[in-house]
Amino acid sequence: MVEVLKKTGGAEISMENLLRIFTVPEAPGSTLNRLDNDISENLAGFLQEHIVAEEADLVKIEQDFNDTRIPEVPVFVSEHTQFLLDKVVAQSVHTSSPSFVGHMTSALPYFMIPLSKIMIALNQNLVKTETSKAFTPLERQVLGMLHRLTYEQSDEFYDTWLHHGRKRLGAICSGGTIANITALWTARNRAFGPDRDFPGIHHSGMFGAMRHYGYEGAAILVSERGHYSLSKAADVLGIGRDNLISIETDSYNRICLTALERKLQELKQQRIRPFALVGIAGTTETGNIDPLDKMADIAEAYGLHFHVDAAWGGPTLFSKRYRTLLKGIERADSVTIDAHKQLYVPMGVGLVLFRDPSVLESIEHHAQYIIRQGSKDLGSTTLEGSRPGMAMLVHAGLKIISRGGYAMLIENGIELARRFADHIVTLEDFELVSDPELNIFTYRWAPADVQARLLEADEDTRREINEILSRITQVIQKEQRERGKAFVSRTRLKPECYDQQAITVFRVVLANPLTTDKVLREVIEEQREIAAGMRDSSDMRALAALVRTSV
Ligand SMILES: *Cc1c(COP(=O)(O)O)cnc(C)c1O
Repeated sequence: MVEVLKKTGGAEISMENLLRIFTVPEAPGSTLNRLDNDISENLAGFLQEHIVAEEADLVKIEQDFNDTRIPEVPVFVSEHTQFLLDKVVAQSVHTSSPSFVGHMTSALPYFMIPLSKIMIALNQNLVKTETSKAFTPLERQVLGMLHRLTYEQSDEFYDTWLHHGRKRLGAICSGGTIANITALWTARNRAFGPDRDFPGIHHSGMFGAMRHYGYEGAAILVSERGHYSLSKAADVLGIGRDNLISIETDSYNRICLTALERKLQELKQQRIRPFALVGIAGTTETGNIDPLDKMADIAEAYGLHFHVDAAWGGPTLFSKRYRTLLKGIERADSVTIDAHKQLYVPMGVGLVLFRDPSVLESIEHHAQYIIRQGSKDLGSTTLEGSRPGMAMLVHAGLKIISRGGYAMLIENGIELARRFADHIVTLEDFELVSDPELNIFTYRWAPADVQARLLEADEDTRREINEILSRITQVIQKEQRERGKAFVSRTRLKPECYDQQAITVFRVVLANPLTTDKVLREVIEEQREIAAGMRDSSDMRALAALVRTSV
């Protein structure tokens, strides 16, 4: 024990010291205080100084987090802060860097940081009004504002429902995944609701529901570009992942409507009840938007709940110039929007909106000591129980950035993507793979002679070339990430022009307002340089040989 004390320089455990942790701020010159000031005064500088650019191997980082024994005695705050700086901050990802254009997480507006501190200091719990007070009406206002942005109902509508006891315009949650699950949960419960002596799927479960309604299964339909959270939803809702039915897409990564209708007919014959159709407004991989209006027609014709996953693209609605891209979203039964993506709120908040304020009643839960019947407690219609006051930060963004400001951010991202894609088209050694509709698109390294060869090669050669290019793209992406100056992500797509062969591509996400055309040219320049450095690799030699055989 004494040894441990000496080795860690640990503080003494005493009630007095514990009380100090709860009540007394760290001294002005302490490590924690200095760090706090540095962040407040110059966040960019702080991140620049403390995050190590060059990437360390994850296995090596794991060595710093190997001990599973909880310290017997307290570690000093200053000592622990230093540990965080050295081992955690240093090895974090610089998500706000203008040249990190592969994540859906980018720079935060400055005011979010002190406001987050206030939110944490207040430590409200949105599960019930008793522990949240003003936070509950505030959260409802946020839902109302985004509901109005999406559905544009009348003043009277919002006057009636905004703070209503039983009804809700939506639910705030930790992100797009929970938002999607919540939407599909209501869809499932409404499709297999109470009927004569059947008390509803929420009481009887899937087996009872299938027996009562005479089905062999239940299904959700989405394009093959659907986010993996939908597969999690199918799993937890008890319909099974295989019954999340993925429909092929066209060359613009949008759901193919004839394939969708064909599938719906097929399901009918198999006695499987489709209960939800999901449209995507901004696919995660390519940023494309499904034909929402036509999907709404199909959902209506087949009696399906129409959900739009606008986790990424929802904020496009702020832009008068681009909101028509999402036409039909106003006909959706429910819409997911992630706040920690294009609303620029810190990680951990998303929301789902419902056109009809009664829909959430289908998942309502009550308890005796809390979320009682008829109370305004939001916890009765959220999947999560205890929930932080993140709505305060969404609210702050909506007010401080405003509709006009968000519109500008969205337009900036879309137009930056357009210019970057147009630039890539002019380059000899790169190929645009998916054209941007919003601010996400994909491309790859492929010199002009390779592209020309791909056009005229026989199927086997084309496959071989594409496989080599995929490996090279992967190496370039990894090497660029490890160098630490810039980052694009990578994904695999099956473009129509290559007969649906899966190829690896770079994926750029242009949501950081600090990213410029110049920064993007430097990203390309570095990729080109890495490719040049691979000149003698076996893949490059094989590629050259395959190109030569044509002439
Ligand atoms: C990000 C995303 C999700 C999941 O959201 P999380 O916040 O990561 O849970 C779902 N759908 C789409 C289209 C997304 O882009």
